[in-house]
Amino acid sequence: MGTLDKGGVMKRNRKLLCAALVVALALFCLVSPVDAWNSHGACTKIIISDQEWLKAYDTITITPWTYEDVDTATIGPNFVVQYIEGKPGTVTSASAILTNYADEPDWKMDQDLKLSPFQALTGGSQGWRHQYYGLGWLRFGVAPSRAQYFFDLAGKARQYYGLGWLRFGVAPSRAQYFFDLAGKAREKGDLYWTFRYLARAMHYVQDTTQPYHGVPAPVGLIFKGIGNFGALMGSATNHHYNLEEYQGAMVARSSPVFVTALQNAPPLDIATATSPSWLCRHAAYLGRPVVRELWPLETTFFGDSVNGKDSWLFDTSTVHVADSGTVQATYDLEISTPLGRMSSYTKTLFLLARAAYGL
Ligand SMILES: [Zn+2]
Repeated sequence: MGTLDKGGVMKRNRKLLCAALVVALALFCLVSPVDAWNSHGACTKIIISDQEWLKAYDTITITPWTYEDVDTATIGPNFVVQYIEGKPGTVTSASAILTNYADEPDWKMDQDLKLSPFQALTGGSQGWRHQYYGLGWLRFGVAPSRAQYFFDLAGKARQYYGLGWLRFGVAPSRAQYFFDLAGKAREKGDLYWTFRYLARAMHYVQDTTQPYHGVPAPVGLIFKGIGNFGALMGSATNHHYNLEEYQGAMVARSSPVFVTALQNAPPLDIATATSPSWLCRHAAYLGRPVVRELWPLETTFFGDSVNGKDSWLFDTSTVHVADSGTVQATYDLEISTPLGRMSSYTKTLFLLARAAYGL
């Protein structure tokens, strides 16, 4: 950079910024949205195992949905309200509601909708509501000196193009929407819908803790991939899916690293983490640099196929709990941080709900 004058540096920065934006936008267009973390229900069951307060709500009468006046956000045309534990009038528990409906927002609730002219950037309406992509990651995933460089670059973006920090997706406002509806149900004394709406809010908070829901690939690779874009897009999708398949398989096998991460993560202080929206934005922010660590471990553990252009899925049927000192053990440890965040942020959401609704 030393040989360039100030004008030359600015020109080069603008060129680099344009290239980065084009690649990033194209990636957002082409990486299809997937459900975050494999089975919210299975993870939630472990997460709530230390939530003693839930035991006070072990007998809740199932009530029909009567929130037409306040629950007015559009829903997918093929979404059907299900009653898994039994018909209205029968009895369930808060733990069962939270576990059974942790995945409900993935049951066509947010599919086939026209929500935003930009929703194609996240792969459709479900991607739009379940993710929170940000270009703020330009600041992360690079060595400290480069971080300052990209930070300056982003500053110029504001200056020249008025972009600010672009965000794609509305997961934070969806979490907030259902959290507020849980409050309305609580006001009516309807414990069933209090916990069912809370389960939905929880889903969006949990989604944003999956690192690939914050950014599709490491920044360095996005820059390198400019010349071979199809391959970059294919590998980004493979990394995303394989992380989730593997994580689901390891939870199903009760891998101690995964179970411990889900069980033992403490909640945040709600004086700082003040809302479900805050939890989502913060989770996406912290997850983005993790992608840079996950990617090379996935390449080593899964093999080169994960980096291929073609869709490829690791055969999890023969996978076993990691032996110590292996690449798999290192990968497990890296996953355990955002997985612990899934747990921590879920428990923080419960603290917020208890404080707000007196549960
Ligand atoms: Zn989701």
